[in-house]
Amino acid sequence: MSEGATSGIRIRRLTKTYGRIRALHQINLDIQTNDFLTIVGANGAGKSTLLGIIAGLIRPSRGQVLLDGQDMMQDRDEMVGYKIGVLADHAYLYEELTVYENLQFYGRLYDVRSLNDKIESLLERVGMISRSKSMVKTLSRGMRQRVALARAMVHDPPVLLLDEPYVGLDQGGMDMLQMFLTDQPRTVLLVTHDLPRGLEVSDRIAIMSRGRMVYEATSTDLSFDAFDQVYRKFAVMM
Ligand code: ATP
Repeated sequence: MSEGATSGIRIRRLTKTYGRIRALHQINLDIQTNDFLTIVGANGAGKSTLLGIIAGLIRPSRGQVLLDGQDMMQDRDEMVGYKIGVLADHAYLYEELTVYENLQFYGRLYDVRSLNDKIESLLERVGMISRSKSMVKTLSRGMRQRVALARAMVHDPPVLLLDEPYVGLDQGGMDMLQMFLTDQPRTVLLVTHDLPRGLEVSDRIAIMSRGRMVYEATSTDLSFDAFDQVYRKFAVMM
């Protein structure tokens, strides 16, 4: 990440339909540089679709996503990949490669400097250094999640998109992830069903319901009990 790089996200009138299903309806959202936004909501609310579009993995039907003022749909060049790290349910790991080789592949893709040192320090941090020579297909679910986190972080992206990152992690893994999220300023979008954790780690929290953004607040202004009540009122399933 270069000095003084900015990494704000601006979303306007974002709509996504799958046939007759309207997954997103005219979403407007701003995430300022180094802001941490958690999005929660009932199953099917559209959270993963929104994150997938920002990550460039899903094409929207209409609307705009700007990253540092750059239109992601029109100028979707490699630079967007350099700026974003994604941890989603698909781990984007090559099963037949070792843990180390996977990180090497992604590191080379993004021209990471001092790559071997970087990989070793990341594997230390995620607690997977002793398994660096294991093929990914031999790992447990939580171990894969740890490696996927290292993969998402290998190019030190200023923007991190996390979809249910806690799933599969043990207590130590959750603490480790927490440290990653707080060790340096970053723009983070977290999608989770873990309301207490989502509230605790973020600067802002938003609720999606039926493809719309229905509530947004500063996390520090909210106790968990107060938010829980708001959530029950707003987070309605399809
Ligand atoms: P969950 O909390 O269950 O993960 P979510 O809020 O992430 O849900 P999405 O996965 O974004 O919700 O789904 C939003 C809507 O879009 C749902 O009605 C879902 O069925 C639909 N949808 C998502 N992906 C597809 C797809 N590839 N094809 C058809 N419909 C889809």
